Amino acid sequence: MTSASIRSDVDVVVVGAGLAGLTAADQLTRAGHDVVVVEGRDRIGGRIRQAEIAGVRVDAGATWVAPGHTAVRDLASRLGCAFVPQFHQGKGVISFGGRRKTDGITALAPLVMLDLWRVMNRLQKMVDHLPVSSPWEHPEAARHDAMSFGEWLTSLRALKGTRTFMNVISLVHWGAPVGDVSLFNVMRYIKNLGGIQHMLAVEGGDQQDRMLGTTYALVSELANTMTARVITGSPVERITTTGDRVTVETAKHTIEARYAIVTASPAHRATIQFTPALPDHHYGLSRSWRLGALSKAFVAYSRPFWRDEGLSGEGVSDDETVFLTFDVSPTPSGPGILMVFCDARGFDAYDQDERRRRVLSHLVHLYGEFARHAIDYTDFSWGNDAFAPGGPNPAPAPKAWTSFGRFLREPVGLVHWAGTETADETSGTMNGAILSGQRAAAEVAARLQA
Ligand SMILES: Cc1cc2nc3c(=O)[nH]c(=O)nc-3n(C[C@H](O)[C@H](O)[C@H](O)COP(=O)(O)OP(=O)(O)OC[C@H]3O[C@@H](n4cnc5c(N)ncnc54)[C@H](O)[C@@H]3O)c2cc1C
Repeated sequence: MTSASIRSDVDVVVVGAGLAGLTAADQLTRAGHDVVVVEGRDRIGGRIRQAEIAGVRVDAGATWVAPGHTAVRDLASRLGCAFVPQFHQGKGVISFGGRRKTDGITALAPLVMLDLWRVMNRLQKMVDHLPVSSPWEHPEAARHDAMSFGEWLTSLRALKGTRTFMNVISLVHWGAPVGDVSLFNVMRYIKNLGGIQHMLAVEGGDQQDRMLGTTYALVSELANTMTARVITGSPVERITTTGDRVTVETAKHTIEARYAIVTASPAHRATIQFTPALPDHHYGLSRSWRLGALSKAFVAYSRPFWRDEGLSGEGVSDDETVFLTFDVSPTPSGPGILMVFCDARGFDAYDQDERRRRVLSHLVHLYGEFARHAIDYTDFSWGNDAFAPGGPNPAPAPKAWTSFGRFLREPVGLVHWAGTETADETSGTMNGAILSGQRAAAEVAARLQA
């Protein structure tokens, strides 16, 4: 990585040094093009970020890789990064309405289990024939996009336990409760990840593997091995197209290029001033593709004590703060580390002492008194991030997909779009980010060659 000159002239400027931007830059430089990547944060990685607890590096952002995420797996193998399976032995804990049970979701009341299967089967059937790359063509698109996921659950008379479980899914995937996300977005997302069972599963599913170390190795190795320049700490303020040149400006840099690839999440595209202005629907897209907010805490113990009682460390809860936990301990002998997903609405507004207190008190409820004796604690609120806040994924509002979905990746003049949201497959994951970077790089390479 080098710092940039004040003015430069390149083939392509890439906005954003997340996985999509770095992938696009890598592909274009390997094809012989001169590329600069400009990142607003003072670090690379975007929604991939590492933290440290009890001397162990952990994933504050993206964590898991599914068996079929071949783009991530190919990149990891090229960069020499290895995977470890997510720990998944023993019983899960579930706590709804303050009642703790230790058989995972099978501990739910039989009526709730039946209802949950009814609702999940219904959802799966609805997505079976959804065209992922042009979902708005689905005959029922307008009807399903007119209501929120929560309204749909109400229309089905879903039981309270079913709704609570669906809310946990909604919080972890879209950083928003069921009432804040379009049913149609839920359907498209489920289809694009390979079905609801796949989305929820550990073995054979989306939570199967973690990176040895953290996923940050993917972006740091990629940035270290490629020849494109990466400028960090420089938010792009303006993108101006004049004839066959595009000028990208930050407070300190002016970069002229033949093409630009913007990888900012759709909501953040609107923070850039485009001249000429983007077509109107692009602003509608930015407004309605609002990002969710998700927070993660990590709590370290001398050892993974829950394993002594045959517990997996997988917890599901309807607590105001903590809604999911996973065991990410590096070794069975310790330290024991719980990764704790927190609902931003019951977490982000508090100071760190109170956040810690809330998390520990719920872990005591889930895992017993030993949970009080943490040796270290850290957390990260994606919704409070100083630059490009929000995560993990957008929670598009009702009507967003049918009104604006077709403009997600349609180039505007010399400006092309990438980022996980623009992927046709595994959108919302690191895999989707890589695929989108590859697609945008191929689009631009074809124009450069022409
Ligand atoms: C808490 C959390 C958990 C997650 N868990 C998983 C998981 O387990 N598995 C998985 O596969 N995925 C997971 N994800 C999603 C995954 O992190 C993303 O899909 C992926 O990293 C997105 O990469 P990207 O390059 O498309 O976008 P980003 O990583 O968001 O990169 C876009 C970049 O553009 C920059 N930018 C924006 N505006 C400007 C501007 N004006 N000027 C310059 N730069 C700008 C941003 O700072 C950012 O760095 C998770 C995400 C979060 C937040």
